[in-house]
Amino acid sequence: MNMQQTLVIIKPDGLKKSLTGNILTRLSEAKLRIVGAKVVRVSRELAERHYAHLKERPFFEEVLKYICGELYGEQYHRVLALIYEGDDAIDKVRKLAGSTNPEIAEPTSIRGQYGRLTSAGLFENVLHCSSNEEEAEREIKLWFEPDEIVDAIYAVTQAEIKSKKTVWM
Ligand code: ADP
Repeated sequence: MNMQQTLVIIKPDGLKKSLTGNILTRLSEAKLRIVGAKVVRVSRELAERHYAHLKERPFFEEVLKYICGELYGEQYHRVLALIYEGDDAIDKVRKLAGSTNPEIAEPTSIRGQYGRLTSAGLFENVLHCSSNEEEAEREIKLWFEPDEIVDAIYAVTQAEIKSKKTVWM
């Protein structure tokens, strides 16, 4: 038993193409548990930190605009972020997702079915999924607060934080 967590992000093109249900149905084939889920308006800072490993690549700027939804209308400046947990979760989700390049991805994989190569040369591949355990932990801690996850997956500590918070009026 190799218990793992993985971060899945349904990217703005996935939302725009109304693929949320299809993607979640495909991912359910892996028989994993969802332990966190939320809609996120991705800031430039979050995008830069998420894709820090691509900083030197020529498509970096384009990929930031992509995940922030700037390639689409205002109403698509959002993604759906989920954490899946279970035996071999990382590999299982990556197999269902298919290769990064949708033109190379297995035709029946999620990216093979729904992804495309944009005219600007960007791989518009409808979802993100973590590539290994180290990245999964880094990404999950970047995208989620401990209290947004229903099971305790990483060690936590108590911190005294004095800040303003938006509440219902
Ligand atoms: P993955 O998303 O499969 O983990 P990367 O982290 O390498 O892959 O890349 C992040 C995202 O950047 C990809 O999902 C894709 O949208 C885009 N991308 C990656 N490589 C290229 C490339 N060579 N040309 C265009 N877009 C790319």
